[in-house]
Amino acid sequence: MIAIFDIDGVLADASHRQHHVAARPKDWDAFFAAVGADPVIHAGRDRLLAEAQRHEVVLLSGRPERTRTDTEAWLLAAGMGRPRVLLRDDQDRRPAAVVKSELISTLAPPDQVAVVIDDDDSVVAALAAMGYSAELFR
Ligand SMILES: [Mg+2]
Repeated sequence: MIAIFDIDGVLADASHRQHHVAARPKDWDAFFAAVGADPVIHAGRDRLLAEAQRHEVVLLSGRPERTRTDTEAWLLAAGMGRPRVLLRDDQDRRPAAVVKSELISTLAPPDQVAVVIDDDDSVVAALAAMGYSAELFR
């Protein structure tokens, strides 16, 4: 079975870089360039490490592919190893719920997924509607 985790708002605290996209024009390049400086969310990491005892952990994030190197280095430095990481295509600007619905269906059907943990209620609702056991992280 697979345990799926979101990154931003579950494992990584992105609040220090929100100011880049809080006002228009949004500076997404600056927002994503700063992912390596995110503080770890300890409750999320603890849950990941617990789920990793019994399941394969896969990360499902709305971050673009261009953040992959920084994201994987951050995960390793933060003690979360080298899990498989699914990211959105760099040109893909669709809502996270749409992107994640598509990515998860390429990964595994609901009966192979123990849990999906995400802090976005629109994502949780979309994945739950597909039959996944989706849990809102707070
Ligand atoms: Mg999130």
